[in-house]
Amino acid sequence: MKLLLIGALAALTLVIAPGQPAKAQQAATVTARSAPGGVAATWRLKEPTREVVFLDPSIIRSQWTLVTPGLTLSDGAVRSDRPFETFDILIAPDEAEVDRVYMGLARVGAGHVLYGPGLALKNMDAALTLQSAGGETTLPAANAINGYAYIGPDSAVQRRDGGAVVVGANVPSALSTLMSDGFLAAQTFYGARLGRDLPYQPVLIVTTDSPGPTTFRGDVTNTGVIATRFFGTSWDAPPEDVAGPLKTFVWHETFHLWNGHGVRLKDGDSAPWLHEGGAEYGALAAAVSVGVIDDAQVKFSLGQRLNGCRSALGD
Ligand SMILES: [Zn+2]
Repeated sequence: MKLLLIGALAALTLVIAPGQPAKAQQAATVTARSAPGGVAATWRLKEPTREVVFLDPSIIRSQWTLVTPGLTLSDGAVRSDRPFETFDILIAPDEAEVDRVYMGLARVGAGHVLYGPGLALKNMDAALTLQSAGGETTLPAANAINGYAYIGPDSAVQRRDGGAVVVGANVPSALSTLMSDGFLAAQTFYGARLGRDLPYQPVLIVTTDSPGPTTFRGDVTNTGVIATRFFGTSWDAPPEDVAGPLKTFVWHETFHLWNGHGVRLKDGDSAPWLHEGGAEYGALAAAVSVGVIDDAQVKFSLGQRLNGCRSALGD
């Protein structure tokens, strides 16, 4: 009873606590647009402050230049001696692909693919608006802060049934066809079997302007944007050891729209083998079903992975 009474008093105290003005919730609106050498972004804060910290510390910001006088950018934070409400950063493309780190900015021909979550700040809501100049398009249509986004020439965008495909100006047509046809066929295949209720229009971005060293790589983000990046110049006729895995690459990435993004796994972040293994198996099963690869290739591919697991487990 005593406890109850104390509880009741505590509740009452909370209710009648003298009226300090409620501290306004901090928030940011961010705009981004093409600029010479990359993408220029402007942050506007709801409340003035002396420091903001970027939400994702793993993004590489060494190519970011803070252009607002009197402010500094270091260790993933923007600081000043005096309160500020706005700041501008020129974001130049990342200088390398780094394993398991999302690229902050990559070239797509004359345009760019920007990683929206890299712009988000700690302890506040943020919205990102992409601004297009004449002849440019921005994608996706909504929630750009939550994933990869394209800003660049409209001429690079093909709108097809099942989503948009953005192809950088330097991509050879054979690679462009392989990737865009696979992206659409994979959606048809998985959609018919797993349900087609994706909450967005998927977007596939293909660029051969990767800084490397990874030969090719894809990342899928929560807004249904798949960024695929290819390094080097031999993409019109890649060597056999690259051409083989390349056949199912876009099938693997598209599977992630359902596995890892459309559906999130409980241990997804700590055990990526669950959604990676699932996507790889789904891609092989789908690609052999529609004749993109043959039985021998599936057996070879599964055998390779099984051997990899056995040696990793010390068998
Ligand atoms: Zn994957």
